[in-house]
Amino acid sequence: MLNTRLIAMSTSDGAPETKKPRPECSSNGSKDQNGTEAGAEGDSRDKVALITGITGQDGSYLAEFLLKKDYEVHGIIRRASTFNTTRIEHLYADPKAHKGGRMKLHYGDMTDSSSLVKIINMVKPTEIYNLAAQSHVKVSFDLSEYTAEVDAVGTLRILDAIRTCGMEKNVRFYQASTSELYGKVVETPQNEQTPFYPRSPYACAKMYGFWIVINYREAYNMYACNGILFNHESPRRGENFVTRKITRSVAKIYHKQMEYFELGNLDSKRDWGHASDYVEAMWMMLQRESPSDYVIATGETHSVREFVEAAFKHIDREITWKGKGVDEVGVESGTGIVRVRINPKYFRPTEVDLLQGDASKANRELNWTPKVSFVELVSDMMKADIELMRKNPIA
Ligand code: NAP
Ligand code: GDP
Repeated sequence: MLNTRLIAMSTSDGAPETKKPRPECSSNGSKDQNGTEAGAEGDSRDKVALITGITGQDGSYLAEFLLKKDYEVHGIIRRASTFNTTRIEHLYADPKAHKGGRMKLHYGDMTDSSSLVKIINMVKPTEIYNLAAQSHVKVSFDLSEYTAEVDAVGTLRILDAIRTCGMEKNVRFYQASTSELYGKVVETPQNEQTPFYPRSPYACAKMYGFWIVINYREAYNMYACNGILFNHESPRRGENFVTRKITRSVAKIYHKQMEYFELGNLDSKRDWGHASDYVEAMWMMLQRESPSDYVIATGETHSVREFVEAAFKHIDREITWKGKGVDEVGVESGTGIVRVRINPKYFRPTEVDLLQGDASKANRELNWTPKVSFVELVSDMMKADIELMRKNPIA
């Protein structure tokens, strides 16, 4: 049975917004990973976030950010044969005992509607951040159907789960949309009006996610936003994204654990920001009077080649490029050692050559600006990977 109660939600400037009735779905009594009755404590909670993809790069920064803002943070994790909580272990109240405190974890999956309904019903979140995805573009060419299941239909599943719980008027929903939607770009820089031209199964799946969010917003008057985030990186970035692959490899070269590494297309350009800046923008989008979609980007673009040069510069080495096409190599000045080679296996069937975002709407309406520069980003990642490889050369 549904019944409603009044909950105050706060805006970004801390002022209380319109009070909204919040429905109560009856709890199914299920417990979180630590055996806690997640929906059971008190009725006065007004800052309850549910994060899908909490174990990912962005999920971990967002959980950290929301806990600092005194949210009760719930995260959906999927079952794996080993622990997949490395990025959020430091957020447990008692890390040794894996006890969450204000962070509570629930087993679920974007391919399993009933798990989503059960969790939303139990947690009764005020904000949902849908970050879970098969997020790797190259992998999406191999796992195209699965990518669509998770990234496209998964978004529909969670929106429908909100409706099934009767919470569509009371939950604020954030969707992790992406600059990959612009794909073969029709203009530069890209803003909220730039037409999409997706270039991978990942981007096509995210395109469905983008539009189903807008459709549910219009059809059911839901507070639902798309954050069109350009690439954002950090020391917690997945190891097979190009920035992290470069910083890990250069750190290994620094420690003499590796002689050279291989990359694909050196000429593609990305607008790379820092993940810690970008999760703040996600939260800001959900604190507005009314929902909208926002580009989040730095406005700067750099090639993969430039990222390599900047990473080597961090360890006081210079890379010069010799040769053409697949025979091109990155040579270390002074020693003449080849440090970078091309391997065509990293090329993509269709490539996104250039991304550069225009975040002026976010700047105007959310007062959001990126704080971390390109050089600071590279430096942050390099420092972390040098330390990681020092402690554990086989990482
Ligand atoms: P990520 O590190 O790859 O994290 C993805 C998260 O989704 C992980 O927690 C993963 O769980 C979870 N997940 C994957 N499949 C799932 C499933 N079937 N059910 C439940 N959870 C599942 O990605 P990220 O870099 O943090 O990005 C977060 C979101 O933003 C993604 O949707 C991504 O597509 C989008 N995005 C990212 C960027 C970027 O530059 N980082 C830019 C634009 C948009 P495991 O830990 O168990 O694998
Ligand atoms: P994406 O923008 O979400 O695809 O992020 P990635 O970090 O995976 O790739 C960024 C760009 O780097 C793409 O244009 C890739 O083709 C290019 N790239 C070049 N070499 C590599 C590589 O070895 N691995 C990855 N992941 N990307 C590479």
